[in-house]
Amino acid sequence: PGSSTRKPEWLRVKLPTGPEYRNVRQVVDEYKLHTICQSGNCPNMGECWGAGTATFMILGNVCTRSCTFCAVATGRPNEYDADEPRRVAEAIKIMGVKHAVITSVNRDELKDRGAEIWYDTVRLTKELSPSTTIETLIPDTKGNWPALERMISAGQEVVSHNMETVERLYRPVRPQAKYSRSLEQIQRTKAFGKRTKTGIMLGLGETQEEVFKAMDDLVENGLDILTLGQYLQPTKMHHEVIEWIHPDTFAMYKEEGEKRGIKYVEAGPLVRSSYHAERHVHV
Ligand code: SF4
Ligand code: SF4
Repeated sequence: PGSSTRKPEWLRVKLPTGPEYRNVRQVVDEYKLHTICQSGNCPNMGECWGAGTATFMILGNVCTRSCTFCAVATGRPNEYDADEPRRVAEAIKIMGVKHAVITSVNRDELKDRGAEIWYDTVRLTKELSPSTTIETLIPDTKGNWPALERMISAGQEVVSHNMETVERLYRPVRPQAKYSRSLEQIQRTKAFGKRTKTGIMLGLGETQEEVFKAMDDLVENGLDILTLGQYLQPTKMHHEVIEWIHPDTFAMYKEEGEKRGIKYVEAGPLVRSSYHAERHVHV
């Protein structure tokens, strides 16, 4: 499959507009929050923000890691904003979010990996909006399992941790991560009693066999929900798109994943880990 910079037709989406979109934008600005929708240039902003959903990014917008697909800036973060949990929780309440998705950058330099801020954010959100369900898309705690337990013990309904790609491509795609460590994190999250979820991007050069192998590894480690979407290159500096995966291939992967024992697979060109996240609470 040849690389091409021209997006196929099924990836063209409408630009975000409309009153609900502007409303979300206003709250995000006013509360000085970061969203993965904006930093990731997500193609679904029109749909999600138009429906009052956003993915909040906590612990700042500078990351200690340098994944080659990611648009978040790499560097030495200096932000430790103990007031952030309150602002996130209030924004979620004001926006009337029914299902909140919260994620963060990696803070490898912090001893607790940011677990206290994570805990407070989820706890305060639950306190202010008791009927809102929460998905936390958490980083790799680098084997700090007490930090992991703290992060996931504040009452969230879904805990995701993205594998992002197949094992062979970890070095070029997630250089500071380890495939086996991420699998172990999912396994421990499941053992802790949480609903588990992960996301894999396609089009980075993986083979179908490698995707099937990842599915089997995930089933073995207690995964409940898998999202598969097309990788899009945020800028020319980022990892190239090696292949545009056809919608029919996504449909095949959904069927195959569920046959292999994953409870629910959400697959399609525009699927992101937080896309249709509200459907994953009851899986
Ligand atoms: Fe934001 Fe996720 Fe929706 Fe994209 S799919 S706009 S990142 S909530
Ligand atoms: Fe981006 Fe997350 Fe990788 Fe940081 S750890 S560079 S935020 S994908």
